[in-house]
Amino acid sequence: MSEPGMKCSRCTAPARFRFPAHNARFCDDCLEVFVLRQVERAIAKFKMLTPGQKVLVAVSGGKDSLACWQILKELGYQAEGLHVSLELGAGQFSDASLASCQEMAQRLEAPLHLLRMEDLTGHSVEDISRANQRNFCSVCGTLKRYYLNKLCLDLGFDTLATGHHLDDEAGRLLGNMIRRHQRHLDNQWPVLEGTPGGFAKKIKPMCRLAGREIKAYAKARDLPVAQGHCPRSKGATLPYYQEAVLLLEERMPGTTRDFYLGFLEDKVKPPVQPDVASSCSVCGAPTYAEACTTCRFLEKTARRKQERTGAAQAQS
Ligand code: AMP
Ligand code: ZN
Repeated sequence: MSEPGMKCSRCTAPARFRFPAHNARFCDDCLEVFVLRQVERAIAKFKMLTPGQKVLVAVSGGKDSLACWQILKELGYQAEGLHVSLELGAGQFSDASLASCQEMAQRLEAPLHLLRMEDLTGHSVEDISRANQRNFCSVCGTLKRYYLNKLCLDLGFDTLATGHHLDDEAGRLLGNMIRRHQRHLDNQWPVLEGTPGGFAKKIKPMCRLAGREIKAYAKARDLPVAQGHCPRSKGATLPYYQEAVLLLEERMPGTTRDFYLGFLEDKVKPPVQPDVASSCSVCGAPTYAEACTTCRFLEKTARRKQERTGAAQAQS
């Protein structure tokens, strides 16, 4: 990231980080100014928050969401953390993630809301994925989205911030374009408005920052980032579309920003509020079907377990 003798573009002090996309080099202090400004600009442009607003930050223990929490606090928001512990694999990754979130909460002197996925659902993610014969990561993603939204509202917040950044959003955009997912393209926006009692407002304050910029910030601020990868990701750490975006960025610095921020600039208007056909007959969450995906997952898992218990009793 740095070269010997490199000077900061803002203050000419020795620089530690180089960002070709901005044709800039930064020392630690100026990097922080740069990062805070990018987040401030995103919040203002997309009307994410009002000054000093209460906001819940979904923290995974990774650099993006911890940086998001730190920055929102620094910008004067009443930002509390929410971590859902997944307790995957042998547990080391989940333990490290939890410890990182706790250390961050201590540093920020901010409340951290902690919940275990298994307490929320009554089953392990593994059991839910197996009973429903669905891909583990997609089940985990559905459950996370559902409970992060639900907990946000239950805890009395109306806005949930996540650590999604520029590379995430550009990768998603490329995928939506290649597959011509028009509805997803129409709805891709760094803010999704909430609906009373149904959806919390979702915001992505890091959407103007690249992963490597956040990594540099986390290093400069020495954030207690959890090391390692999810034991279930099986080495595929990035979606292919994001890898493609990063390759283009490496060859042509600035491409990712041009691509994603240009897309937002050209958009005629942001998406309207989610149109919700009805509410889940089990939990009341907005859904298009009779019961929402999560309730269907849980119902089927319980049914499979009962069938297995019944079969075991019949045998004995
Ligand atoms: P991911 O889909 O794992 O890249 O995560 C995207 C964002 O979701 C993160 O930046 C966090 O804001 C949030 N998130 C992911 N996992 C968790 C978790 N276990 N608990 C709370 N928030 C999470
Ligand atoms: Zn439901």
